[in-house]
Amino acid sequence: MIAEAAGLIHGIRRNGGRVLVLTGAGVSTESGIPDFRSHGTGLWETRDPTEVLSLRVLEERPQRFYAEGFRLLMDMRSAEPNGAHRVLARMEAEGYIQGIITQNIDNLHHRAGSRRVWEVHGNTRDAVCVACGRVGPVEEIEEAVARGEIPPRCRVCGGRIRPAVVLFGDPMPHAFTEALQAVKGADLLVVVGSSLSVYPVAYLPEEAKQYIIINLSPTALDYRARLVIREKASVALEGIYTALVKLGGLG
Ligand code: NAD
Repeated sequence: MIAEAAGLIHGIRRNGGRVLVLTGAGVSTESGIPDFRSHGTGLWETRDPTEVLSLRVLEERPQRFYAEGFRLLMDMRSAEPNGAHRVLARMEAEGYIQGIITQNIDNLHHRAGSRRVWEVHGNTRDAVCVACGRVGPVEEIEEAVARGEIPPRCRVCGGRIRPAVVLFGDPMPHAFTEALQAVKGADLLVVVGSSLSVYPVAYLPEEAKQYIIINLSPTALDYRARLVIREKASVALEGIYTALVKLGGLG
C-alpha cells in the first residue's frame, strides 16, 4: 500500500500534477494531543467538545468557555511536532506535495516548517476583536483571563476579543474558500488522521480527482478512496517519503 501510494504521488508529480494533503487531529495524537473520536483517549470520552468549544457557550456562558474550552485550546500549545509533521514539511520542500489543508488548530505544521498551510478551523496563536477586527497574540486573552477579565476586552476599541479558532456554530473562514479552490481539480488529495465527520471539510476529498486515506480507524469515505492505509500517520508518511526518494528525484 505504501509503495503504491508513493508510486501514485511520484507519477502525478513527474507529469506536473498537483498533490495536496488534508490533515486532522489524528496527525497530532503522536505529539500527545488527544483527538476527538479515538476510543479511550479521544476528547469526546470525557466531555462534549461541541459544547465547551461552541459559539453559544462563548457568548452565553463565557466563564465556562474560558474555564474549560479555552483551557483545552491552550493545553495544545506545549506539544511539539512529530515525525508526520516533519516529513510533510520535507515533502513540500522537495516538491512532492503542494500544500496542506489542516483542520488542526495546534500550529504544528507551521512549527515543523510547512509553508503552504490552509488552517480551515483557525489557530491558537491569535486573538481577534469581534468589534474592530484587530488581530493580536492569544496571550492578550490569557492575560485578561488571568486577571479575571471575562470576556476579555480589546485594548484599542474595548470590544470583546476571542481566540481565532473556528468554534462549533462559527462560519467557515476565508482559508476554507481558498482550500476548496485549491482542491478542485487537484490530481490527488492525501487525507491523514481525520475521521472525515466534521463538515464542510468532509466534502473536500470528493472535490479532488482522487484521494487516498491514511487513518487508524475506518472513515465514511473509505469506500471511494483510491487507497486506504490503516497505519499510524508518522509510519505511513515516513514510509511513503522513503519510497518516493528511492523512486528518484522529480527534476
Ligand atoms: P477526529 O478525532 O474526528 O478523527 C481523528 C482520526 O484520526 C480518528 O479516526 C483516529 O482513528 C485517527 N487517528 C488517531 N491517531 C492517529 C494516528 N497516529 N495516525 C493515523 N490516524 C490516527 O478528528 P478530525 O477529523 O480532525 O475532526 C475533529 C475536529 O476537532 C477538527 O475539526 C479539528 O479542528 C479539531 N481538533 C483539533 C485538534 C488539534 O488541533 N490537534 C485536536 C482535537 C480536535
